[in-house]
Amino acid sequence: MSEGTVQAWPSTLEEFWSWHMEAACRQVDTTLFYSPEGERGPRKERREAAAKQICGSCKVRELCAAYAIATREPYGTWGGLSENDRREHVRRSDPRMDQLRYRNALAAWERTKAWSRPAADGDSLRPAGSPAGPVG
Ligand code: SF4
Repeated sequence: MSEGTVQAWPSTLEEFWSWHMEAACRQVDTTLFYSPEGERGPRKERREAAAKQICGSCKVRELCAAYAIATREPYGTWGGLSENDRREHVRRSDPRMDQLRYRNALAAWERTKAWSRPAADGDSLRPAGSPAGPVG
């Protein structure tokens, strides 16, 4: 799917956040991802590096980064991007394109999930009798 094809946001909050159920950071202390008051210098760099390392093993990293950029999330490490990393990006990016990228990434994620579910009658995303995953 090319950019510009998904115009609407998901209709439910569950769909909007569906990818978060797969987040690697669900298993760790979330304070690793957020800067305490007054944190700076080497201590901040070490904490962010540790958070980014967890993001590096996360299977929803790209979606997470796209979300944080699209919503202009000001705090924390998301998708392997620190607050400064995202600030650099959003300074020169178009917010509408960032939102479109997130919607498209979310739609692609939903399609992947649909393919990994067992086939059911009335499943509009998978033809009846089709194999368990995408073909080609
Ligand atoms: S990319 Fe990082 S912040 Fe985002 S869900 Fe995964 S582990 Fe959490």
